Amino acid sequence: MRRTNQEDIRMKVLVMNCGSSSLKYQLIDMENESVIAKGLCERIGIDGSKLTHKPTGKDNYEVESPMPDHTTAIKMVMDALVDPQHGVIASTDEISAVGHRVLHGGIKFTESIVVDQKVKDVIRECFDLGPLHNPANLMGIEACEEAMPGKPNVAVFDTTFGMSMPEKAYMYAIPHEYYEKYSIRRYGFHGTSHMFVSGEVLKFAGLDPEKGKVIVCHLGNGASISASIGGKCVDTSMGLTPLEGLIMGTRSGDVDPAVLQFIMNKEGIDVNEMLNILNKKSGILGMSGGISSDFRDIEAARAKGDHLATVAMDAYIYRVVKYIGAYTAAMNGVDAIAFTAGVGENDKGTRKEICEHLSYLGVKIDDEANDVRGEARIISAPDSKVKVLLYPTNEELAIARETVRLI
Ligand code: AMP
Repeated sequence: MRRTNQEDIRMKVLVMNCGSSSLKYQLIDMENESVIAKGLCERIGIDGSKLTHKPTGKDNYEVESPMPDHTTAIKMVMDALVDPQHGVIASTDEISAVGHRVLHGGIKFTESIVVDQKVKDVIRECFDLGPLHNPANLMGIEACEEAMPGKPNVAVFDTTFGMSMPEKAYMYAIPHEYYEKYSIRRYGFHGTSHMFVSGEVLKFAGLDPEKGKVIVCHLGNGASISASIGGKCVDTSMGLTPLEGLIMGTRSGDVDPAVLQFIMNKEGIDVNEMLNILNKKSGILGMSGGISSDFRDIEAARAKGDHLATVAMDAYIYRVVKYIGAYTAAMNGVDAIAFTAGVGENDKGTRKEICEHLSYLGVKIDDEANDVRGEARIISAPDSKVKVLLYPTNEELAIARETVRLI
């Protein structure tokens, strides 16, 4: 059903991000893109389930009650949203649609899409590609269908942004049959964040909407970097899974695959255990000898002179700098470099250290402008040849906008 613009702007969109035992939500009023309420259900299917509901302008509200499954959790969210005291809407009829974050769309989905049976089948077919997230994402969709029959659900895939990469960027140099048989290719993740930030940066920095070359550094606990021209991804650092690319809180990023075989033989561990080590025990946590996966702890240890923390932080910055160089080459230039996510938005020291390695591009950081957290701002000097920005990511808003666009 196509709505008029007048109807569009009155929409309220519920955005859902379902994990296997958790559910995060935001209700967004699309008239002014403001968050009316947000919250979290934790420990779904486990003892001690809890809903934390945060209505804007009202006190937070917590309910501890068993949530055996996602359907129960979503019903509790609906109750909280319409609760006379803590609620923000009179009835769930006010919710126009639900936008779902879905991790993996495989090669079938190059765009966000309104959910029907075929879409659910493909999300299920992609369980192999996103084993931790896709089953939970599908559970969330089915629970919403049950709790709010007839309400449109839209799937926004984390992999969509990477689908515009050219073949030379997404194909692995392995026998072609694996692409044919199993769709093995580079997909890229944090796609909703990269799409949102690269699109916003084009406008904010006044770049050519068709030709502006932007590098987005999404530096959080998970970290990835993308290159886009006119908001279309030409390369991005994560691959078939989020393990490839930058050094992260607990993930190794790029590593010689032969290292895996060597460690597995020496330690007598299987491939699942090895992958668990690369995903959960590596990155700055592993490199620092186990100090922490939190960048604040690593920086504090480095400030005290801890050698491994220093190496971890240096290597992390070095990897980001190398990728910026590679992506500048891939695009034959860059107009703007943007920092986003936990580290990117909050850590002026890391932004500055990265930019200090980019003087060959004519990048000049303005220390005063860079003295900022979580606010969209140009942080480069007026005579910097490349604009550098802090631009806070907002994946929920990006999902809500996609949802409005599609229904
Ligand atoms: P995210 O995954 O985007 O939520 O980012 C989480 C990461 O941001 C954590 O590893 C934090 O250490 C990091 N972070 C948050 N604030 C700061 C800060 N002021 N300085 C350095 N790192 C920070």
